Amino acid sequence: MSDTLRERIQALMDSGDTTAALVALAPLVEDEASTSADELSWALRMTAQCHFARNDMPRALASARRALDLAVRTGDELIEAHACNTLAILEANLDRYDRALQHFERCYHLYKSLGDSNLAAVVNNLGNVRLHNHDFGRALSYFEEARALARESGDVRLEGIALGNMGRALHALRRLPESVEVQREGIALLGAHGLETLRCHAMARLAGVLSESGDAAKAEALYREAASAMAARGDESWIDEIYGNLGLLLKSAGRADEAAQYLRRALAESGSARISRDRITWRAALSELMEADGDVSGALAAQRLAFAELEQHIQASAEASLHESMVRFDVERFEAENEIYRLRNVELASALDEVRALKDELAQRNAELSELAIRDPLTATYNRRYFLSALGAEVERAHRYDTPLSLAVLDLDDFKQINDTWGHIAGDHVLERVARVLMRHTRANDVVARYGGEEFAIILPATDVDAAAEVCEKLRDMVASLDFSHIDARLRVTFSAGLAQLREEGSLTALISEGDAQLYAAKNSGRNRISWAA
Ligand code: GH3
Ligand code: MG
Ligand code: MG
Repeated sequence: MSDTLRERIQALMDSGDTTAALVALAPLVEDEASTSADELSWALRMTAQCHFARNDMPRALASARRALDLAVRTGDELIEAHACNTLAILEANLDRYDRALQHFERCYHLYKSLGDSNLAAVVNNLGNVRLHNHDFGRALSYFEEARALARESGDVRLEGIALGNMGRALHALRRLPESVEVQREGIALLGAHGLETLRCHAMARLAGVLSESGDAAKAEALYREAASAMAARGDESWIDEIYGNLGLLLKSAGRADEAAQYLRRALAESGSARISRDRITWRAALSELMEADGDVSGALAAQRLAFAELEQHIQASAEASLHESMVRFDVERFEAENEIYRLRNVELASALDEVRALKDELAQRNAELSELAIRDPLTATYNRRYFLSALGAEVERAHRYDTPLSLAVLDLDDFKQINDTWGHIAGDHVLERVARVLMRHTRANDVVARYGGEEFAIILPATDVDAAAEVCEKLRDMVASLDFSHIDARLRVTFSAGLAQLREEGSLTALISEGDAQLYAAKNSGRNRISWAA
């Protein structure tokens, strides 16, 4: 994003044209892929501010939360801090101070560890939230910290505000002399740097504290100073309040004429568009003054107006608080809906995980079952059924690709005698050991199967009969030298084997027949040997 675009958007927001600002921001926040994380974070926060300015709190919160999600995704602590700050301000404006506090605190730690200049403002806001929660002691320490930080960074405006806030906290703690002192310090500071509006507000606030603590003369002087400074600059903010409070102050000092004059000015300045509670107080005070002055009908008229305005005020506040709670309700409904979606997604995800786990288990079971279906349980070699189907496939393949294929048919020698001499269990053990030798010392592609009781068969793909003979000789050697001394040192096991190579256009049956015939030949020529037609 270019700096000019940033400036243009900022200018639109400053001028209050949030519609145009949102239009300019939309492509940035909608096209996440082509916006950098920093830019996206900035654009999301600006979007949140625009929605906030339009009182669209659900959208404002949603944008701020997206900024926070982005921070979590990227692990960028500065983005997280900015996002928390925005969220905290939104929550505070929804009067959800607990949440505001959480976000401000997170943001406080992040800015602090990052040494970010926004820290002072956040600390000041933490003080404000504490003040709202009537935790005046903690509010005071935050304002003190904000003041120190602002001073360090030379931010006079914020230092002045923090001093005023310290005054508010001290006032709430009923430490009035200290409150007055820090407020004076703040006023002097703001004055020295030409921050006039802030200085006037600070004076008016201090005047209030002074009048409350019985220092009417000083309060009056301050109200007057603030009023004339503001009038001189044509600044109308707070002017009605200053006149009104001055009027009330003068009334209680018994200076009825002056009091009435200021109360009238306050009423004139405040206008009737938005009726404040103060305005009703001023009118009621004015009515009392008129009555005391003998102007009974004037007093009555003022009183009637005061009542009418009170009624309007009550209705307006009821509407405002209804509106506020509707905004909050909107936000809460929006959040509840989001939570439901989130939970539903979590549930779906875990259901999917479960299904996946079940599928895996099922697949494994199936694999185990099909293994069982093709293996011989005693020796773990393939069973006869599998052997026949594998041999069928290999015969076909050998014909198709014109590669050699050999078959070995093995039969243990004098096995009946082994059973008779050492028992059936020993016989089984011999079968297992022999099978293990056959499987371990053949290739992965070779198929070793138990063909019958003490007969094995080995399919040797891509192997001619001479190579097969070599393999079988090696196997014959290994089996002949197997040691069974744990049963009996005299126990020796040998096998005879017949080999056959698939002939051109030869069938599976012909191959097996030849193997069998060669085995018969091996047996007949003395056993413990291998026979094949070279
Ligand atoms: P030859 O050298 O001629 O092959 O003699 P042989 O004794 O091995 O042949 P014969 O066919 O007479 O005997 C095979 C024996 O193998 C008979 C049978 O009891 C035994 N046998 C077959 N299956 C098993 C088995 O699963 N376990 C055991 N222990 N013995 C078996
Ligand atoms: Mg046999
Ligand atoms: Mg035998």
